[in-house]
Amino acid sequence: MQRYRFYLPELPFQDEELVVTGDIARQLFRVLRRRPGDPVGLFCGDGREHDCRLLSVGVSEARLHREGVREPAVELPGRLEVALSLLKADRLEWAAQKLTEVGVTRLVLLRAARTVALGESGTRLGRLRRVMVEAAEQSGRVRVPELAGPLGVDEVVAEFGAEPTAYIACEDASLPLARALASRRSRERIVVLVGPEGGFTPAEVAHTLACGVRPVSLGGRTLRAETAAVTAAVLAASTLEGGG
Ligand code: SAM
Repeated sequence: MQRYRFYLPELPFQDEELVVTGDIARQLFRVLRRRPGDPVGLFCGDGREHDCRLLSVGVSEARLHREGVREPAVELPGRLEVALSLLKADRLEWAAQKLTEVGVTRLVLLRAARTVALGESGTRLGRLRRVMVEAAEQSGRVRVPELAGPLGVDEVVAEFGAEPTAYIACEDASLPLARALASRRSRERIVVLVGPEGGFTPAEVAHTLACGVRPVSLGGRTLRAETAAVTAAVLAASTLEGGG
């Protein structure tokens, strides 16, 4: 029996029961065809998983009974933040989905000098946020990554520059990210900046390096920005989980 999971920002259980309405009830009933007795997982982003069973389900309302609460070890043991240039909507959504699956803590949207101005509307951020919630639900995460920005490179560097594990991905850097991370004892907060399709400008790179951020390579090939972001996240996640 497939167990579906849902994120709800608040889980006000009363006597171990919770009523959910709206989209989740409709999905459970109409799309997923769940029935009383079926298992459902709920999480609100605080690191805990609520194991529930459906008591009743209809198109507008589902009643759930909580059977237990767990703290599964699914999150990375440290903060992993990726600052990625705004990209075309489909590519940014792909990156947001994959970064969530890989385990990032925070995605910061970057407005770099060569970022092609794209609609930065609230709707777009709302859509990205939904993509990240769905990816967290699907991948078993118990936290949804924070979504911040769009911020300028100087704003991001002002926040991250002092971190010993803050990096900027540069095609011409000689130090591989994995090696840079392996040489650091403290890796509580890893930050990686990834530029737009046209790359960072020399002035942005110079400013970033002057603020203490280290340049790193992601290999000998030129990756598209979204591939670079996911590659950096996979390498950093693997280091955090003890693989490097
Ligand atoms: N020709 C552009 C340039 O000169 O930077 C290419 C930019 S690349 C498509 C977009 C971003 O991905 C870059 O700004 C960089 O942050 C990252 N990137 C791509 N390939 C990389 C690599 N092999 N090593 C490090 N960063 C890379």
